[in-house]
Amino acid sequence: MTDPSELRHEMVERQLKARGIGDPHVLAAMGEVPRERFVPEPMREFAYEDGPLPIGEAQTISQPYIVALMIEAAGIEPGACVLEVGAGSGYAAAVIGRIAGRVFAIERHPALAAEAARRMADLGYGNVTVIAGDGSVGLPAEAPFDAIVVAAGGDKVPEPLKRQLAIGARLVVPVGGEALQSLLCVTRTGEEEWSEADLGAVRFVPLIGAFGRNGGRWEDGERAASNHRPARELTLAECIAEAAEPLPEIDDPAFADPFERFADRRIVLLGEASHGTHEFYQARAAITRRLVERHGFTIVAVEADWPDAMAIDRYIRQEPFRPTRHPPFERFPTWMWRNTEIDRLIHALRAINEGREPERMVGFHGLDIYNMAGSIEAVLAYLDEHDAEAARVARARYGCLTPWQADPATYGRAALTRGYAECEEAAVAECRELLDRALREDGGMFGAAMNARLIASAEKYYRVMYYGGAESWNLRDSHMAETLEHLLEHGGPEAKALVWAHNSHIGDARATEMGQVRGEHNIGQLVRERWGEQAALIGFGTHTGTVTAADDWDSPRKVKRVLPGRADSYERQCHDSGVARFLLDLTPGRHEALRRRLAEPRLERFIGVIYRPETERWSHYSTCVLPEQFDAFVWFDETRALEPLGPPEPRSGLPETYPFGL
Ligand code: SAM
Repeated sequence: MTDPSELRHEMVERQLKARGIGDPHVLAAMGEVPRERFVPEPMREFAYEDGPLPIGEAQTISQPYIVALMIEAAGIEPGACVLEVGAGSGYAAAVIGRIAGRVFAIERHPALAAEAARRMADLGYGNVTVIAGDGSVGLPAEAPFDAIVVAAGGDKVPEPLKRQLAIGARLVVPVGGEALQSLLCVTRTGEEEWSEADLGAVRFVPLIGAFGRNGGRWEDGERAASNHRPARELTLAECIAEAAEPLPEIDDPAFADPFERFADRRIVLLGEASHGTHEFYQARAAITRRLVERHGFTIVAVEADWPDAMAIDRYIRQEPFRPTRHPPFERFPTWMWRNTEIDRLIHALRAINEGREPERMVGFHGLDIYNMAGSIEAVLAYLDEHDAEAARVARARYGCLTPWQADPATYGRAALTRGYAECEEAAVAECRELLDRALREDGGMFGAAMNARLIASAEKYYRVMYYGGAESWNLRDSHMAETLEHLLEHGGPEAKALVWAHNSHIGDARATEMGQVRGEHNIGQLVRERWGEQAALIGFGTHTGTVTAADDWDSPRKVKRVLPGRADSYERQCHDSGVARFLLDLTPGRHEALRRRLAEPRLERFIGVIYRPETERWSHYSTCVLPEQFDAFVWFDETRALEPLGPPEPRSGLPETYPFGL
């Protein structure tokens, strides 16, 4: 960025002097206050452009020319006592403070007020006091004022502000319709007399308050004035509550509405903080249905084995039943896909596809082309027969396939065994054979060349899978990201995808211990690197309730109680916000103050198919930077266990009961 003082000088010359601003105090103050310090970080390079800029909370910092025009029109003189209503970023108040003796600036958004107050303190502007509250009622305790400047538009001049002017003082205020207002300069000429001049058309954000748009009742005004508070640093939980957009019940048709803001992205990734929470599935299904139904998403790609998902895909595309050796999703952890919510979603997607041309139909795909659950099952079956100790280690190891499910005992146990190495060749051969068969059954979505490449790289994966750690994690996530890319390529330039996977796969690994300490990457990171802002990474979280999970890999599923979020976690901050269900939009520029506060690393909870509350801190929490990990975060304070479907019926009942054989 060019030297800000040079840009500031240019702004004063070109945008202000050239347009007729002549007051030397105003020009000097505008040449002094660093506007770049009043805009969100990503906007800094535009700080001296000739226009307003977003500052979060759907508000703006005004165009420099308008700020100068209003201050000049208000006739502010050195030593004056001035009220500003609509402090926003605090920029105009800071400029006024360079001229006046004392400035009171009121802002209705507590988070913006707190930010503005912090800026005044950082810049040493001690004569500016920022107050959080409704400024349409003025500040009776400090009146009369030598000038009042209002930076938001109402439908009439707020009566209390007129009355808080000293005789001879001026009030500059936009008044008119919602789209366009006239900038009025009101001068108090006597105890009960005011004159008015129109400075021209302007467009401001609305003045919201007791004497703002559609207001005007004195009793409301008194209540509002008694609610004025000096701007103070909000707690993190209060900042979350301010920015949180409360969500309706998930089965309310309006639930998916706020997620339509992501409808123009090519890839929307939907996470989950556990593999067994009903609300995460139900919410993702509602969002998926909406984006598929109305916004042209035709790929649903999930963290599941490719061959199993293929059976579902055929069902929702209304293709004829093709027998496979196993019904889909019959292996541990069965509940991840054989559950009531997925069953409902599959039928909804099939109904959406009815009557659609094949190329416009939505498909359902597994990102794990390596056939992960299938290959783990094959390895376990082999080891059970040939080396019981290695099988035990493998079961514990697979519990650690997500990086946070470390069981401190596992590594010790690994050292006891004679080693997997003796069985490795045979186990890998089993996996290879299994994958080969699955690909033959699948009907050749990717063609023979792709399958050959897949088998070669899968072999590498099978070799490191047993040993766990960064290499196997990275191979798997690279592969899932590549599968997604192939699916998008296959769908053509217009294709749009929804991805369902755990937060650990979807939240950018660079913002977590995974990337920073363990050298692991994930789908979220790879997709961001490849697709940038065309992808939206959406995380999901919860405080407490129940979850469907197991004690160990391959052991029976249970309904387990989820411990309340730890005091040092993001979960606890979300819980303390007091909002039961919400969407937090973390897109840069939207809630900058909150993003900055959230950027201080904290613990975040990751529950996979295994949940070990006894060692929860070490098994399930990891340090993260939430606003860098996700573009949005969805919160359900209390959640319940996912409901699995019963075991599959004998195969003879198919295909009427296809795809889950129920
Ligand atoms: N002067 C600001 C600056 O330099 O950044 C520009 C502020 S913006 C155009 C208008 C601000 O007025 C918004 O931040 C909005 O929240 C605030 N606002 C609207 N109604 C208000 C009210 N009744 N009291 C205080 N602030 C209000």
